[in-house]
Amino acid sequence: MKTLGLLGGMSWESTVPYYKIINRTVNQHLGGLHSAEILLYSVDFQQIEEMQVAGRWTEAAEVLTSGACRLEQAGADLLVLCTNTMHKVASEIEAATSIPFLHIADATGDAIRYRGLSVVGLLGTRFTMEETFYRHRLEDRYGLHVVTPEESDRGLVHRVIYDELCRGQILEESRRQYRKILHRLAASGAEGIILGCTEISLLVRPEDSPVPLFDTTEIHARRAAELALESES
Ligand code: GLU
Repeated sequence: MKTLGLLGGMSWESTVPYYKIINRTVNQHLGGLHSAEILLYSVDFQQIEEMQVAGRWTEAAEVLTSGACRLEQAGADLLVLCTNTMHKVASEIEAATSIPFLHIADATGDAIRYRGLSVVGLLGTRFTMEETFYRHRLEDRYGLHVVTPEESDRGLVHRVIYDELCRGQILEESRRQYRKILHRLAASGAEGIILGCTEISLLVRPEDSPVPLFDTTEIHARRAAELALESES
């Protein structure tokens, strides 16, 4: 089995499900007491969030690149960056390391294509919804048409992520608001909706949406576990 190197802590609330999903997936395949071989480098998210807000992406890339190099030196065979937003600096991490990097948008794009959908909604931080690094990858590599919520809904989705979900607060009122946004996205033509932030599945469940949800935490973590097991089969 390959050793997975997780770059986590963004936020730690969503790194916990990564750990569980990876271990469960490995156990489902191998049975018994089998579990995954994992190295975790978990950052101080306050620093990363301050860099995001200030647009200090080069510095944020340096923090993550340094973490990735430490994981590689410690013996990781595959890198998993446990956040959608910070894939904005994925190419810097890939350039600084020589082990494979499992891009979250690739795992997600594959899962959507497998279901045969072509128009998908995208929920995530403003960075993920509004910049090109994420949606263009889905559009260019997977032929998807990506739709995002209107401005005020994007603001609400973003605020709930940082002010609540990354702090471990799960509020019924926010779930109600997200539910409305999921319905609006479906009404605007989305055949499925990407939960493109690793904390959103802490709040929203499949039954909250009229169309299939693509939970990037579940998809990314399961794919990482499957790749770790590939040498076993
Ligand atoms: N975990 C979130 C994501 O998947 C947001 C936190 C971050 O800014 O990394 O985008």
